[in-house]
Amino acid sequence: MSGRLAIFGGTFNPIHKGHIRLAQAARDEMGLERVLLIPTWTPPHKESPDLAPSQHRLAMCRLAAEGHPFLEVDDLEIRRRGRSYTIDTVEELGRREPGRELVLIVGSDMLLTFHQWRRWREILERVTLCAACREPAIQQQVEDYARRLEGEGYRCRLLTLPPLQLSSTQIRRGIADGTLPPGWLDDKVEAYIREHGLYTGKKEEGKR
Ligand code: ATP
Repeated sequence: MSGRLAIFGGTFNPIHKGHIRLAQAARDEMGLERVLLIPTWTPPHKESPDLAPSQHRLAMCRLAAEGHPFLEVDDLEIRRRGRSYTIDTVEELGRREPGRELVLIVGSDMLLTFHQWRRWREILERVTLCAACREPAIQQQVEDYARRLEGEGYRCRLLTLPPLQLSSTQIRRGIADGTLPPGWLDDKVEAYIREHGLYTGKKEEGKR
């Protein structure tokens, strides 16, 4: 029988080493067969004025996934358009892969707002949540939140990997002002950003 399949959604604007490291840790600690990287069309939870067009975010995810056979890029939310609600994605994958055990990978910022997600209880009835802490200062809060979900009968696993404070926001800023530290992006992704002039602050973004 086929193994566990993970959903890893995000704006990936752009995809960075923190994302790949999280997916690898989830694979190792949760025994995952595959991780689906699913770039959102419109994220429901945040304002994204500098969201790069979806074809660029998708292309960067594909470049970052190269050389990681367990990573697969899925454009289902981009094809679906509209607001990208996770419950719709979970239901779609449930239809596509019936009987398959699903895991949902999130960082702690997403975990701590989980009860605000659309039909969050239904999501948790269908998946095992797998979360990683992004900032040492909120470790206890994250553990308490996870235990509360478990206390309500849901499955929630916290990964043991130490926090890495790295975000797409920092990367976009670093590119715009020329201070991007080395090693935050996959080399191919960094070259793609340069080639297409993304995140320079000179308004190529804006259309999806
Ligand atoms: P932005 O800075 O634009 O808000 P981001 O870096 O948070 O972006 P997203 O694409 O929004 O990246 O993140 C997708 C998922 O990956 C989310 O669940 C987020 O919490 C998680 N994530 C992102 N960066 C990290 C990190 N450094 N450590 C752990 N999880 C992360």
